[in-house]
Amino acid sequence: MIPVAEALARVLALAGPLATEAVALRQAAGRVLAAPVIARLTQPPFAASAMDGYAIREEDHLPGRVLEVIGEAAAGRGFGGTVGTGEAARIFTGAPVPAGAGRVILQEDVTREGARITLGDRLEEGRHIRAAGQDFALGDSIAGPRRIGPREIALFAAMNVPEVTVRRRPVVAFLSTGDELVMPGEAPGPDQIVASNGLALAAMAEAEGAEARVLPIARDSEASLRFALSLAEGADMIVTIGGASVGDHDLVGQVLAGLGMEQAFWKIAMRPGKPLMAGRLGGIPVLGLPGNPVSAIICGTIFMLPMIRAMQGLADPAPAPGRAILGEAVAANGPRAHYMRAILTPGEELAEIRALPRQDSALLSILATANALLIRPVGDVARAPGEVVDYLPL
Ligand code: AMP
Ligand code: MG
Repeated sequence: MIPVAEALARVLALAGPLATEAVALRQAAGRVLAAPVIARLTQPPFAASAMDGYAIREEDHLPGRVLEVIGEAAAGRGFGGTVGTGEAARIFTGAPVPAGAGRVILQEDVTREGARITLGDRLEEGRHIRAAGQDFALGDSIAGPRRIGPREIALFAAMNVPEVTVRRRPVVAFLSTGDELVMPGEAPGPDQIVASNGLALAAMAEAEGAEARVLPIARDSEASLRFALSLAEGADMIVTIGGASVGDHDLVGQVLAGLGMEQAFWKIAMRPGKPLMAGRLGGIPVLGLPGNPVSAIICGTIFMLPMIRAMQGLADPAPAPGRAILGEAVAANGPRAHYMRAILTPGEELAEIRALPRQDSALLSILATANALLIRPVGDVARAPGEVVDYLPL
């Protein structure tokens, strides 16, 4: 048995970053930035008012001071003149601060009569001016790799960058295998069940920025497997589900080997999980997951998602565990790391985590109830409530 970390390192060695492409900002959400974004302007481009009020000179900033309003600066339409001593310009949020003015007095802090304003008795310290370039300057750059979300899109848009360079979306082909499987919606025969985890893994891959291609279910025959695999042509990665153990009907490894994959099987010191199969076929990585739905989804979380992140060029593709306080005791763990289905609830400092009572790896209902995996290291001793443990969010 090899530790989870070693298996992860081995599958990651199969998955390198894909080529880059330019996409419009509107299409960039969820993609991974692959080249720096350089600001094409300075923001704000000019000193701008942060409030509605009056722009005045510094020396006029005195309680009770009476000033003459000589013009108006609005957003998108500045005041061309200069504010002199004894003068003020009406100003609105986002408008350029006129020449001569050193601060903005809030409109609530003055009384106005005709073209005259009188400053109040209690004046504020704040100048209410956004300095030119206080957000970013022309030429400032944002480096990749970095997942692009709504906040990055706002920043790049403000930088006047309409197009960004990102990694190509990995196309992942999913192959469910088994004579017992039918598609959701079909009527299962007497000894059949509905295939569940191909769709789940496809959804996980898509949520991680990949493009999923769900292949038709292959029967447990060489011909069927070979045909289904031919439909993966053009994919960047193949994920097989089931048929990878040592049973008489577990033909996936054999068929892949026949197609020329140098393959590896590892017994992983992990629960739930079976031997994991991995290799390269025609230059692309292949990951063989166990068929058991809970095992497939947990192995997908721990091995497939990091491979997808690596293909997108992300720097730290491995799962990042969080820390939580144990809410309920757990027994000592055996020789395999145990990823226990658990409930994480917000706590005062750290969140609190409790393992669900039923941990049978065939229970999808329990997996769907869980929102975290409580990680029990190999050979861990029994743990009491209050102890700090690692978890992976689901
Ligand atoms: P296998 O690895 O093919 O021996 O499958 C292990 C268990 O997982 C068996 O009980 C299969 O019926 C089940 N199984 C395999 N593939 C799927 C799938 N795509 N959806 C749901 N169950 C599956
Ligand atoms: Mg099978």
